Amino acid sequence: MKVLVPVKRVLDYNVKARVKPDQSGVDLSNVKMSMNPFDEIAVEEAVRLQEGGTATETIAVSIGPAKAQETIRTALAMGMDRGVHVTTDEDLEPLAVAKILKSVAEAEGAELILMGKQAIDNDYGATGGMLAALLDWPIGQYANTVSPGEGSVEVKREIDGGLQTVNLKLPAVVTTDLRLNEPRYASLPNIMKAKRKPIEAKTPDDFGVDTTPRLTVVKVTEPKAREAGIKVDDVATLVDKLKNEAGVL
Ligand code: AMP
Repeated sequence: MKVLVPVKRVLDYNVKARVKPDQSGVDLSNVKMSMNPFDEIAVEEAVRLQEGGTATETIAVSIGPAKAQETIRTALAMGMDRGVHVTTDEDLEPLAVAKILKSVAEAEGAELILMGKQAIDNDYGATGGMLAALLDWPIGQYANTVSPGEGSVEVKREIDGGLQTVNLKLPAVVTTDLRLNEPRYASLPNIMKAKRKPIEAKTPDDFGVDTTPRLTVVKVTEPKAREAGIKVDDVATLVDKLKNEAGVL
């Protein structure tokens, strides 16, 4: 089974996002960028499927600027076989990304697409669903456990208050949730080995995908700064403030 893992280069989750002065977006100059954490979980799962003998080949695909190659290299250092880099300097919307991923999946003959449930930079959480719909494949979202079977894959999904188990006929799309696994760190020898693994270079035009945006970002603002707390002298004052100032009682 060929497994395709889309990996996105995003602002590192430890970095505090700074909004650009003109409120047009987040300032990405001189900040640490990393693989989207949910995609790291997808890479780990793909590598485990290969180590377990289920996946015959694992391919990482990233759509983004030249530096997205580093994200693919990280996936290769974690153990994936090869990469596809679709170069664009535009910040593509989920539909355009899904259309490109569909073409890559078809060209590669992928049977399983393992991807993040959401990218932590824009929080769309939309690409997996769109991709499954475009391919007309079943989807198991928010995977907590992935168990491959004969021509199918069983996915335990994280839902409110528990887990739902679904069986998907292959080919299928699975999106990862936080508790699926703990991604490994790439060892130095594997980082060196990854430098020699092949990465194919493509562009959105190679797939004939129209990437024209369909929405306009009106503005991006920082969350309201938290106000400093106060100390109260007794319980009566606390209750009074909760009732009359905070309005939570
Ligand atoms: P989103 O719908 O933007 O929240 O992204 C959901 C998932 O789609 C991510 O976790 C990735 O697996 C995949 N994805 C989104 N954008 C890209 C991209 N530019 N390159 C590769 N994969 C992507």
